[in-house]
Amino acid sequence: MIKNASLAEIGRMMLDADTILLFPHVSPDGDALGSCAALCRALRREGKTSWILLDEPVPEYLSFMDTEYCTEDMDIIEAPDVCVCVDCSEESRFAKRAGKFSEGRIRICLDHHATSGSFGDYYYIDGGEAATAQIIFKLLRETGLPVDGDVAESIYVGMSTDTGSFQYSNTTAETHRIAAELFESGMDHNRLIVALYQSTGYRRLRMESEILRNMELLADGKAAMAYVTQEILDEENAVLDDCEGVVDILRNIRGVELAAFLKEKNGEIKVSMRAKSYGNVDGIAVKYGGGGHVKAAGCTLVMPMEEAVDVMRRELCDYWEN
Ligand code: 5GP
Ligand code: MN
Repeated sequence: MIKNASLAEIGRMMLDADTILLFPHVSPDGDALGSCAALCRALRREGKTSWILLDEPVPEYLSFMDTEYCTEDMDIIEAPDVCVCVDCSEESRFAKRAGKFSEGRIRICLDHHATSGSFGDYYYIDGGEAATAQIIFKLLRETGLPVDGDVAESIYVGMSTDTGSFQYSNTTAETHRIAAELFESGMDHNRLIVALYQSTGYRRLRMESEILRNMELLADGKAAMAYVTQEILDEENAVLDDCEGVVDILRNIRGVELAAFLKEKNGEIKVSMRAKSYGNVDGIAVKYGGGGHVKAAGCTLVMPMEEAVDVMRRELCDYWEN
């Protein structure tokens, strides 16, 4: 854990501010968006002006969350009293908004990535937390801000998505204790689960089946890899967000320890990696300028898909040699 301010101190800075602008990472996931939504709602209830600044629309699979807080308007708050980057690990994770972040009178970083850099004026980073949403929960508790049903639902989305529905090894007794408190705050668990996990679109399933056709098993079945190109997406009338979770399908294969899923995005290849029990994908990600966690990490390869597939095939096979 690295920190130069306690959650109580960070909470005090927010209570002392009038305007607070929140920065989740690019391609926001359930944890980034859930953490921001919970914080934004709690701050607005205290009479603060607060917004979540994005540089893209909210992903469709998360649009059931209250998105009233989200904006792409860079001028929504001029020179904010406080800017908070959430779940970001490094400035490149919100590159297009980094200039706006630096406009903040006080800049704070809240994160749970072990590889997180310590940027901003104040930071609280704990790689031991399963989700940044857990840090937000503790921040609200330390600050005396109430967790109502809606705040609880947003925190739960962050915790549930970053732990793979409480399956991954980052899940702890404390994760379950916090979840229990969220239940007691009046969240609508069934509504949430249906919206998050039981609303798969037809085109998404079609696209998944198309992607799984190019799946490869490597290293005697200990690694699995697949990719999606713009062409596949176009064919199935799908978008990249529809691929959320494909890497987990690869990891779920019996005997597979390492999984890699390659996604073509704006001419670059975004690699999502997962380990199951003893593997470490963070090492591979860092080697290519990325990062993340031991069991969930990513990087970007600036090369055509064919080459990227070769690179990752070699990495996954070599992993067992060393
Ligand atoms: P995902 O595969 O779900 O996109 O990402 C898995 C984990 O790796 C997340 O915790 C995410 O923040 C991290 N991650 C993914 N891509 C990158 C990257 O390019 N750089 C860094 N530093 N972390 C990444
Ligand atoms: Mn996270």
